[in-house]
Amino acid sequence: TRHLSRVLQLTLAVIKPDAVAHPLMMEALHQKILDNDFIIVRCKDLVWERQDSERFYAEHSGRFFYQRLVEFMSSGPMRAYVLAREDAIRHWRGLMGPTKVFRARYTDPKSIRAQFGLTDTRNTTHGSDSAESAQREISFFFPDFHTADWMEKEEPLFR
Ligand code: ADP
Ligand code: MG
Repeated sequence: TRHLSRVLQLTLAVIKPDAVAHPLMMEALHQKILDNDFIIVRCKDLVWERQDSERFYAEHSGRFFYQRLVEFMSSGPMRAYVLAREDAIRHWRGLMGPTKVFRARYTDPKSIRAQFGLTDTRNTTHGSDSAESAQREISFFFPDFHTADWMEKEEPLFR
């Protein structure tokens, strides 16, 4: 498992409510995941209560955008994925592009946020930013999913 984790990494990817509201965007994003050699380990659609949103983004409480972020993220359905790939965390964040949509349009015009994002808050997707946050965020969205057990079980597939 120690050896495997250097090869295969898990990340949490979320399609936020602005993008889920648009069927063509959902389809394009799903296709992008497949085209980039991610394995879809888990996938589910869900809606957050406001307090889920507050808890997930607690690290940002106090920032000027916190209220609008929390409101937005509990405003409608989302789709969450557990994705597996070599270097999954960095790769998914690269595909998303910078947090700020209007910056992304200049610096990474082909990125997801540049192409589909509406505003700096309504920026279409989330991706874990480190192995530690991936672990926390996967458990947050998929409480029944146990990373270590999964790695153990699937290891033969990735040798
Ligand atoms: P990321 O999602 O790229 O990891 P952060 O963790 O910094 O970015 O912020 C979490 C989310 O809060 C962003 O994806 C975005 O929806 C919102 N957000 C962050 N910074 C801003 C900002 N300056 N103005 C508006 N919304 C923001
Ligand atoms: Mg973040």
